Amino acid sequence: MEKALSGSQRATSGTFVTRKESPSTQGKLLKDELAEIIHQAVRDNRSYLMEHESKEILEGIGIATTGYLIARSEDEALAICDKIGFPVVMKIVSPDVVHKTDAGGVKLHLMNAEDVSKAYRDILETFKYQHIEGVAVQRMAKAGIEAIIGVTRDPSFGPLIMFGLGGVFVEVLRDISFRILPITEKDAAEMIQDIRGSDILKGYRGQAVDLESLQQLLLKISQLVVENPEIQELDLNPLFLYPDGYVTVDARMFVSEPVLHDHLTATGAESLRDFFYPQSIAVIGASDVAGKLGYNVFHNLISHHYPGKLYPINPGKASVMGVRAYKSIRDVEDPVDLAIVIVPAKAVEAAIADCCAKGVRFVVVEAAGFAETGQEGREAQARIASIIRKHGCRVLGPNCSGVINTHHNMVQSIGLLSDLKKGNVGMVAQAGVYAAGILTGLSNVLDFGIVATIGNKMDINETDILEYLSDDDHISVIVMYMEDVRSGKRFVDVASRAAVRKPVIVLKSGRTEAGKKAVSSHTASLAGNDEVNSAAFRQSGVIRARDNEHLFALTRAFSKQPVPKGNGVLVITYTGSLGVAATDMLYLSDMRLATLEPYFRERLKNALPDYASVGNPIDCSFSMTPEQVKNLIEIGVESNDVASFIVVLQGEILGSFVDVMKSIDYKEKPVMCVVACKEFMINDVVKMEQAGFPVYSTAEMAAEVLGQMYHYGVRRQSALTDSIARHLTKDSLSVDNNPVRLRLINPNDIGLWTDFVNGCSQKSLWLRFLSPFSATPERAQHFCNLNPEEEVAVVAEMKTGNQNKFLGIARLIKNKRREGEAEYAIIISDPWQNKSLGITLSEQCIELAKKEGYKTIRAETIQQNHAMIRIFRRCDFAFDGKDENMVSMSLNLS
Ligand code: ADP
Ligand code: MG
Repeated sequence: MEKALSGSQRATSGTFVTRKESPSTQGKLLKDELAEIIHQAVRDNRSYLMEHESKEILEGIGIATTGYLIARSEDEALAICDKIGFPVVMKIVSPDVVHKTDAGGVKLHLMNAEDVSKAYRDILETFKYQHIEGVAVQRMAKAGIEAIIGVTRDPSFGPLIMFGLGGVFVEVLRDISFRILPITEKDAAEMIQDIRGSDILKGYRGQAVDLESLQQLLLKISQLVVENPEIQELDLNPLFLYPDGYVTVDARMFVSEPVLHDHLTATGAESLRDFFYPQSIAVIGASDVAGKLGYNVFHNLISHHYPGKLYPINPGKASVMGVRAYKSIRDVEDPVDLAIVIVPAKAVEAAIADCCAKGVRFVVVEAAGFAETGQEGREAQARIASIIRKHGCRVLGPNCSGVINTHHNMVQSIGLLSDLKKGNVGMVAQAGVYAAGILTGLSNVLDFGIVATIGNKMDINETDILEYLSDDDHISVIVMYMEDVRSGKRFVDVASRAAVRKPVIVLKSGRTEAGKKAVSSHTASLAGNDEVNSAAFRQSGVIRARDNEHLFALTRAFSKQPVPKGNGVLVITYTGSLGVAATDMLYLSDMRLATLEPYFRERLKNALPDYASVGNPIDCSFSMTPEQVKNLIEIGVESNDVASFIVVLQGEILGSFVDVMKSIDYKEKPVMCVVACKEFMINDVVKMEQAGFPVYSTAEMAAEVLGQMYHYGVRRQSALTDSIARHLTKDSLSVDNNPVRLRLINPNDIGLWTDFVNGCSQKSLWLRFLSPFSATPERAQHFCNLNPEEEVAVVAEMKTGNQNKFLGIARLIKNKRREGEAEYAIIISDPWQNKSLGITLSEQCIELAKKEGYKTIRAETIQQNHAMIRIFRRCDFAFDGKDENMVSMSLNLS
């Protein structure tokens, strides 16, 4: 039986459609003609595109598929086979059949015309009661590693992309990773790396799949979805990955009218500086009656010596706690920066209207009884929102406990608080009770700078505060206790920027059913709320704590100790078993024990009794003394491979270590202490903490925290380097008709750097380094692995065939002795001198220095270095001075 089908679908039978470029889609991935497939489907109220339509779109943006041709008769099916060759696969094409295999609509391994005819008839027979558009005939893909890529949408974070390996990996093990769109190249690499099965992709020997093309595929999907908001969800399930490339075997897109989210608009554009450092505060509801909340708030301001003007507002009083009171905030003659409202809920609206009339820019509503209580409260809150919006007034709360800023002696809390020390920790908490509870206890071992409680966050939310804290120089660690993320997309943007400046540690209870979503795609069914949160945190570089204990373990470490610059750790212990525990956790955290060079091993041996074993961990046994530990640490500080310390101390004699530990010069290498069962030696632990050493009751926690600090540092450096690299205005040029690329040096350049130095003449090296110079592994490490906050190097790199080669290197080094000054040096390899490469490199470095905020660039060289002096002159450096050998030149950038 042969039945000809008349399809309404646009893919023509048996013809590969070629489309001409359309000028109106410039810069966009998807051409108008193909975008029209989506638009038409939306107009027709269809919820998804079938496989062949989806694949046509994918092919149109350069994503390989097994094909999208449709046959509407047996003859057409055979004609397609003539074009594409055997073996082929045939599939039912019907808007009514979503899962084709389950319904018997997929025929694999069709080797010849006979198979194809039979398969065609079988499919028609199976689906005779359904609407059939046709039968897809496509190439049979050769076996590869099966994977899934999908996109779904989250109400708070917007579109998310998923990657996982196919089959049991995703269905049973749920081995998948998510990222929020759009993704960067780095995100793509990380999300592949993130799945547990990623080793399978790398192969046991050599590369099993083409990771580069997989990354590019993820980036393309990201761009496609971002540019076409009608694509709600998408499944490429499966695609086959090969050592060279990949092919998409099945694809489905879910489409609808784009939904506009207002969460994309920022609310915190105006700086909150005056909110955290107000010069004057009015307390509406301030009271003299002990026990009242209005008493507590006003008392806290006075007892902590708030330095600005205070205006208690209380209609029944002439003064409160000796401060002149006012009937209404409107009666205050001078301007008021901030008002705290602590009156019964029903009086809040009027109080806020008064504040707005007075021109107060910031209001903290500590009063409760709003959205948290039900419908009536929600309505009251909405009325307040419309009042403040009209006046451009910003509100914290309601239902919060205000702000503490120890650097401004300002405590707005509802609960009475005793003395607080000034610290570097900034904290955002939802609930005031939580903040107060932990403050009382934690203030023994941790010093806070700013604590903000956001309550119902009707206006100012966690992201606004995060944004401000990242900008406040008193704050070097940010801690967030979050219950829900209000505008996820903006949080990711702000957190990504904040995390480059300082560590952001988040505790998020994520297992709630916050965002219910309609699940249509397979990807959506795999995207639980917590997966989304984890993706957001990973992507923005935020450190996620497991629980409160972990949160403050991390906070104490980041607040008191520098970030380790390497992953080698020296463990000093009095008991072998805790040394083993630390070691295990170090390796689980991608850290390692430092290797001790023979010279250091010898020195360590001399510092220990004969019976002690010299190794890492160093086991001092029960005879451990403070002096001994000091000796060992001082030797470790000198060793290149030791970047940090874990010191396991005896609780019984902990007190005797405090002063000695304080007296050591650690040269910016962090140290973590472990005291087993520390809760029973709490007085000495507090002393140790106050001396600046975090103390953990398990070696595992110390090791884990150290690992998280190190990885934070690595990530931060690479983010900083990336942002500096974006400042290069010119990244390619041609020298003698050879393409040359300008880029920043990175730790993978050790080989190229070494070749470069080996290729330079002794004379060139002498002129640059002013002493005999050769490439040693240590120097290579030192010159390629730069701390971007102190030093950047721009290289000119030429590619010949498969080989890359450095032609020149220019270096800007921050002068630590002179504010705003960078030292500059440059070397060009001998055959490439006098080709104006030096000038181009220098111009780029000058631009970089400007963007990095330097005021001057200084260069020094010997008088004989005519080539270098010529370059500097061409770049407008001025002579500063010279002695008989040296010339000093500088360029003013401001
Ligand atoms: P559905 O997911 O709707 O059941 P698919 O198109 O994914 O249908 O096909 C089911 C399975 O058949 C795929 O997971 C894949 O293993 C295999 N398959 C489908 N198309 C091809 C093809 N062109 N080449 C190789 N294998 C294929
Ligand atoms: Mg499928």
